[in-house]
Amino acid sequence: MGKVNKDDILDMLEKYDKEDITIATLGSHTALHILRGAKQEGFRTAVVCEKGREVPYERFGVADEFIFVDEFKDIVNEDVQEQLRNMNAIVVPHGSFVAYAGLSNVEDKFNVPMFGNRDILRWEAERDKERKMITDAGIRMPYKFDKPEDIDRTVMVKFPGARGGLGYFVAGSFDEYNQKIDEMKERGWINDDDAKQAHIEEYVCGCNYCIHYFYSALNDEVELLGMDSRFESSIDGICRIPAKDQMELNMSPSYVISGNHPVVIRESLLGQVFANGDKLVEAAKKLVKPGMNGPFCLQCLCNDDLELVVFEMSARIDGGTNSFMNGSPYTFVKFEEEMSAGRRISREIKNAIKSDRLGVIIT
Ligand code: ADP
Repeated sequence: MGKVNKDDILDMLEKYDKEDITIATLGSHTALHILRGAKQEGFRTAVVCEKGREVPYERFGVADEFIFVDEFKDIVNEDVQEQLRNMNAIVVPHGSFVAYAGLSNVEDKFNVPMFGNRDILRWEAERDKERKMITDAGIRMPYKFDKPEDIDRTVMVKFPGARGGLGYFVAGSFDEYNQKIDEMKERGWINDDDAKQAHIEEYVCGCNYCIHYFYSALNDEVELLGMDSRFESSIDGICRIPAKDQMELNMSPSYVISGNHPVVIRESLLGQVFANGDKLVEAAKKLVKPGMNGPFCLQCLCNDDLELVVFEMSARIDGGTNSFMNGSPYTFVKFEEEMSAGRRISREIKNAIKSDRLGVIIT
């Protein structure tokens, strides 16, 4: 099957009634502020909901229309796509949308106008591509080890797939690596295939800042929307136990994200924050045309040299934007109004409609 054709999408957009656009998304991840933000900007909203998971969208009153599906992945079914097109929908992709619908389905089968650059989603999903984009941008990443025998310092070991940090571990030597691989297999957290695909990188000792940007393709400008840090189970729980007891308990931590809290960074680091955002946008323009488009996130650790080391990126709205649904300190400074990442997307769509440039931001 071929890829979704951008010209077909532009033809669909051409037929849409621009006065009656619906902003739609899948009911999970960041749907609450994507939809609330769309309403704030005057759009009708729709949520594609797995049956039984509609409660937040009903109770918070963010959706005008509900499209119910048996399973999230059914969002790519032809009848659902048709319902979306019939309501002049522009779909906002988020992490769960890509994970549930399946990246190839989004690339090949999802013939509905989407906000952003469809082709960039693969660049955040595949670790090698992600590393290429970040390092081509000249942004510092943790050093990567090609084989476990080379481990000469503390490393973080990760496994493929959307597993939310389950089975990840820290090791200081090849022996410890082997021992922990066996332990994770015994726990059932990884299998032999996962072990073969282990990704080993330098452990960066520092504080976590997940930095949320917005690249306006209309204005060619990188904006800073907000920052969060993560609550991860069980590592954050283990850190509350005194070291002596930790040794006795002999627990293996996992890094499963369970929540986010808003943070701000030292003002003197903001120059570096903006420089990293600008550099990533420039690299993306070269690697995956037309480049970044809309929200993106750099997940960083700040070491004691006050250097931001980026261990991951999202090339779409990141879950941590939920920490500023009513705006962040940074959006307050920039916009002087409540501005969530969701609302910023709808503002961009509104501006594109006004200036007849929807084709620039839709894929
Ligand atoms: P996933 O995207 O699979 O959940 P991440 O790459 O975000 O995995 O890593 C999960 C967590 O592990 C991070 O939030 C961070 O706390 C920690 N982590 C990741 N990479 C490193 C690293 N190189 N050094 C130290 N901690 C790390």
